[in-house]
Amino acid sequence: MASSEDALPTYGLYIDGGEVPSASGAHFPTDDPYTNQPWARIARGNADDVNRAVAAAQRAFESGPWPRMTATQRGQLLRKLGDLLALHAPRLGEIERRDNGKLAIEVTPQIRYLADYVHYYAGLADKVQSEVIPSDKQGVFAYTKHEAKGVVAIITPWNSPLALTTWKLAPALAAGCTVVVKPSEYTSASMVEFAKLFAEAGFPSGVVNVVTGFGQEVGEPLVTHPQVAHVGFTGGEGSGRKIYELAARDFKTVTLELGGKSPNIVFDDADLDQAVKGVIAGIFAASGQTCIAGSRLLVQAGIHDAFVQRLVEFMSTARMGDPALPDTQIAPIATRPQFEKILSYIEIAKGEGAHCALGGKPWLAPSGGLFVEPTIFTGVHNRMRIAQEEVFGPVLAVIPFVDVEDAIAIANDVPYGLAAGVWTRDLRRVMVMTDRLKAGTVWVNNYRSTSFTSPFGGYKRSGVGRESGTEAIREYLHTKCVWISSDLEVANPFGRR
Ligand code: NAD
Repeated sequence: MASSEDALPTYGLYIDGGEVPSASGAHFPTDDPYTNQPWARIARGNADDVNRAVAAAQRAFESGPWPRMTATQRGQLLRKLGDLLALHAPRLGEIERRDNGKLAIEVTPQIRYLADYVHYYAGLADKVQSEVIPSDKQGVFAYTKHEAKGVVAIITPWNSPLALTTWKLAPALAAGCTVVVKPSEYTSASMVEFAKLFAEAGFPSGVVNVVTGFGQEVGEPLVTHPQVAHVGFTGGEGSGRKIYELAARDFKTVTLELGGKSPNIVFDDADLDQAVKGVIAGIFAASGQTCIAGSRLLVQAGIHDAFVQRLVEFMSTARMGDPALPDTQIAPIATRPQFEKILSYIEIAKGEGAHCALGGKPWLAPSGGLFVEPTIFTGVHNRMRIAQEEVFGPVLAVIPFVDVEDAIAIANDVPYGLAAGVWTRDLRRVMVMTDRLKAGTVWVNNYRSTSFTSPFGGYKRSGVGRESGTEAIREYLHTKCVWISSDLEVANPFGRR
């Protein structure tokens, strides 16, 4: 019997240059967080689909036009892809907004910006230099070559689906790899649509494949597939650890971009008007559902009360509502499990004795959307769970500090090290803080800046490896050292050369 879900738009897998049904024929619904209703059906892939996709990617890596292309030709294809991405950004942004509920004013510019990202790697493709190695031996010539690793698995979360995929995909393709993407089960549709642009840009079939579905059913077979050479993952710490363990069995290389508990540190000499905006953007943009969320505000004791007061005033008028509308400021929470997790952390914070200075409650919109009020906790000390664990929601934990040493001690005393913000006009403070903060990104008098030009990644449990910038392409390349001898005679085989 046909169900109402059968009438929804349906997305298949994308394998070997075309959209195909899953091997099982099964689907699952994907919801619009603002209405809490399914808006599309997604193909439910399994290990058979992973096998098909990896076989297509391996074929494309070894035979056909892709391995014969020069790096410059790969760059030309990426350039066309970037142009198409810019053209289709409004349509792809609309799909992502429906799938994860993000504000339209954030998501479409984010996708349009990805075109620049792809253009950057289009340009970088033929600028990976090898080295002639100065040798300490007579009669040999040694040099390095950089070779594409092979088939890359890309596994991504729901908060910025196409952005976090492109961060991996563009350098992987520039390097000459082929890829199989597994998007989040909550936000798969935009990736299937994006995959179709690769054919239009002229990429050979099989270079980019997409298998939609769940972590255990698709993600694990993909990570453990013997022909996958590298895993590029963004997501939570638990899944990251599992993927690291699975990849280690076959000594696969990985890039892991995981969670954070980033401090936003405001000194008493800061330009407080700017710092207020930076702290608000740090924690409340995307309703706090970002890995770089500045979820701990460290504020110098002398300005603590006045600064918190300004934050509360700013946020008490924040507009929650339809993410499609340009004046909405707080979007719905993307998934029900995430909504429940955020509320549970609010209860944990209250139970630990933190004071709820703002928000602290859910808001169930008439549309059906699940919202959490922008929430600020004061009276937090760094040993509380609300100060140590990633909430991934609009919840700010405020912790006072005394001086530079105290700020550094508190800032570094978490298992994560993704990012940190520092607000001060004092050059010495800037230098000491940027030296001693254990984080992959430190922003001074700004927060949330990222660019395709700048390496991004974590210390400690926030991840392994770097994305963006020139460093990222190295994640997808092996370095080979070649030795050529000009000696007429091979030396005594039993002596040391
Ligand atoms: P998640 O870890 O639950 O899922 C991420 C992806 O991994 C999904 O595609 C999921 O299906 C897949 N997956 C889950 N278990 C798997 C397994 N055992 N094997 C293979 N694949 C598996 O994360 P999420 O809830 O989608 O996203 C939120 C998390 O992502 C947060 O912790 C956040 O900090 C992190 N994140 C990090 C960054 C960064 O760049 N550091 C950026 C965005 C999000």
